[in-house]
Amino acid sequence: MSFPAESLAAPEPLCEGWEESLIVKSKAAIALTLSLLAGASVHAEKISLVGGTVINPADGKVLPNATVVIDGDKIERVAIGKQDAASLGKQIDCVGKFILPGYIDTHVHFFQSGDLFTRPDGTDLNSVRPYKDEVAWVKGHVNDVFARYLRSGITSVVDVGGPFWNFEVRKTANATAKAPRVAVAGPLISSVSREKLDLGDPPIVKIDTPDQAREFVRKLAEQKPDLVKIWYIVDKDHPVESFRPIVRATIEESHAHKIRVAVHATELETARAAVEEGADVLVHSVTDNPVDDAFVKLLKDRHTILCPTLVVFERYGRTFSHQLNLTPEEKAWGNPEVIATLDVTKIPQEKLPERIKNALAKPDEALDRIKKTYEVALPNLKKLEDAGVTIAAGTDAGNIGTIHGPALFREFQLMKEAGLTPMQILQCATGNAAKLFGGDTGAHIGKVEKGYFADLVILNSNPLDDIAHASDIDMVIKNGVVYPADSILH
Ligand SMILES: [Zn+2]
Repeated sequence: MSFPAESLAAPEPLCEGWEESLIVKSKAAIALTLSLLAGASVHAEKISLVGGTVINPADGKVLPNATVVIDGDKIERVAIGKQDAASLGKQIDCVGKFILPGYIDTHVHFFQSGDLFTRPDGTDLNSVRPYKDEVAWVKGHVNDVFARYLRSGITSVVDVGGPFWNFEVRKTANATAKAPRVAVAGPLISSVSREKLDLGDPPIVKIDTPDQAREFVRKLAEQKPDLVKIWYIVDKDHPVESFRPIVRATIEESHAHKIRVAVHATELETARAAVEEGADVLVHSVTDNPVDDAFVKLLKDRHTILCPTLVVFERYGRTFSHQLNLTPEEKAWGNPEVIATLDVTKIPQEKLPERIKNALAKPDEALDRIKKTYEVALPNLKKLEDAGVTIAAGTDAGNIGTIHGPALFREFQLMKEAGLTPMQILQCATGNAAKLFGGDTGAHIGKVEKGYFADLVILNSNPLDDIAHASDIDMVIKNGVVYPADSILH
């Protein structure tokens, strides 16, 4: 795609935002108190999910008539058959239900809302809605976004790049009961600049020399990022080799600090260079050429994780050409204010950027470009999956038209179109995604197993029969707290 499907949005200068950060901190303190109270009540009362079918995609095991015993925030045990009622605490009847690890979206951006104004570097609509207003809206709706993830059965997410403000988002999520677990990268180390996103705490920072890269990684390391992110944008003015020394220095310095590195590299040769230099994660599919055997072997040998983000590849083009195909889940659980902005025909003609004007004038060309992208990306995914490369599901939610939360179910549809089985798709969204999440938390999510966090999604119908059932959600359990699905957004 000509437009890098990446994220970027930016916050205010730190010095101006201090009052706001105090408010965030006091809100976080209240949330922490509430979550501790909630945790205490859970500890006092053991919960058991009785009689459901447990699906553990990580190893492909299916356990019918199972009992999952939850004590506090952890799974105490998973057993089959009739259990001694005295050891179960409060019983929740799950006969006919399907119990899975909570889903994990490994590619999101909290600094982007998913609305039409969230990427002024790509489509400048400041004359309709100033970008600073967009950023303020984003900062004021973090808890709303958290809830939409939980409603979608997503109990953990990885934010793969944004401003330093991202680290506040992680802190807030950790202190909020009704939120997914959050891993974050800070600002993207980039080959190109994006001034329109820079309101003082830029999400993308152009780095020109290896020394600058090392210095920036040291600054990031102070925030204990879960990942360092590189935006390896390549075009005729920025060839693969010119930025490669900066990629190398970034990875060396990050690894010296025991921090993994995720790289945006959507061309085959860029992705190959990134992995050769030691990238731990590729955050998108290769979309320009079929992957070759040497590339597949490289990813396997290096244990590189790849996150395909198929959904984002259609959403810019479809939004701009007024052919957006939001799913019923997105319409029901996405933020309605965000969705309302995505109708480009509501923008006064004279304020439309060229890019949208062109897409509206030639809607078939927009669809054709998307089709061509999928003709490469989908077979690439199938080839990598068949070869045993670790694939982690992710959406790039927050980009224009890619809806925080339910976009994951469109990603599942596209993974199915690529030829993945329901079990493979679920493995990508649970066990494999937990590996991308990483750290001590990553080692305790993604499986329904003794000692793992009680982060679960309970379905009314069997997702192994049809991956569409993955969104037929009855209940979500996060950190041992049970939420009837219908109650989460109300
Ligand atoms: Zn992204």
